[in-house]
Amino acid sequence: MNLDELYERFPEQQDCLRHLEKIRWPDGVICPACDSQGVSALPSEHRHHCNKCNCSFSATVGTPFHHTHSDLQKWFLAVHLLLTSRRSISVRRLSRNIQINKNTAWHMMKRIRLAMQQERKFLEEVICE
Ligand SMILES: [Zn+2]
Repeated sequence: MNLDELYERFPEQQDCLRHLEKIRWPDGVICPACDSQGVSALPSEHRHHCNKCNCSFSATVGTPFHHTHSDLQKWFLAVHLLLTSRRSISVRRLSRNIQINKNTAWHMMKRIRLAMQQERKFLEEVICE
């Protein structure tokens, strides 16, 4: 899978978010703050609103992709590269492959490596392994 194929499969940010939603909340969206299922979609913002505690959130909350400025497609590809390559990947190669600067690549790698230890199954589902 390369960046083009990934953008073909997930053309928009919202396609990535929908994919994350399916993985995280297969039985319907649950509020991460209060576990309520009384949640309404805010489709224009690709977010959800909890009718009980009044918070709003997106499918990235609590994932390594939360609060980042990079496209989710790039995150997904970074996960794919780090999870599937046999040899370890350098920051330089990650930044080149995903077309991000080295500083961003370094941060991505740090977050993904941590997630590989803590929630590998989730990452595998993200890249549909
Ligand atoms: Zn809530």
